[in-house]
Amino acid sequence: MSRADLLPQEIAIELKKKKKKFIVKSIIKTAIFYLLGFGFLLLSEHKSESFDRYSEPYLFWFLCILVLVLPVFLFNIYILVTRRSFKGKVVGMKNQVRMDLSECGMFLRANAARIKYKDVCIVSFETEKGGTRRIAFENEEAVLIRDYCKIGDEISYTEFSKIPLKYHGVYEKKFCVCCGNTQRGEDTCCAKCKVPFYDEKANRDELGLWQEDFKI
Ligand SMILES: [Zn+2]
Repeated sequence: MSRADLLPQEIAIELKKKKKKFIVKSIIKTAIFYLLGFGFLLLSEHKSESFDRYSEPYLFWFLCILVLVLPVFLFNIYILVTRRSFKGKVVGMKNQVRMDLSECGMFLRANAARIKYKDVCIVSFETEKGGTRRIAFENEEAVLIRDYCKIGDEISYTEFSKIPLKYHGVYEKKFCVCCGNTQRGEDTCCAKCKVPFYDEKANRDELGLWQEDFKI
């Protein structure tokens, strides 16, 4: 039996748009990267007397493969495969404090005094297909996920969102499914993602799905 789709249509449409935008941007960035990367490689081969595909075949083809695969990691394209939608169950939650290197970059030592730490919660899920998925939630997302999910909760995760949605229970606070921001004041949309806040109670009413009659 397939489970009902928990995500309100309005948010589902936004997430699809987000995915489309990500793919278009990735294609453009990759095209530019290939143009510059291969252009530079072929130009170096053409201009240099000691470096070409015949005298340095290993180096040449290694650099070619490097240019070919680098965009997958540089532009986070791997998330298209690693963060696919799934349905499953929360089986573990682990808290960690990690260094936040986003502002230090390569000058870690010089900036040692400025190192900040981030609050991380790693949640493990057992998928309905029998696999395991792990998602790391940071700072505000981590605070929300600890409050929202408990071990044993059955959830549905949609690609390009951040917070998985629960099949049971009703959460009082409204939050952004994309980034984990909780609603402040009377705002109806997340200022960061431009996605309507998820209102679990209203969604349950709309779907006519309540804990007792909503068996998975
Ligand atoms: Zn958001």
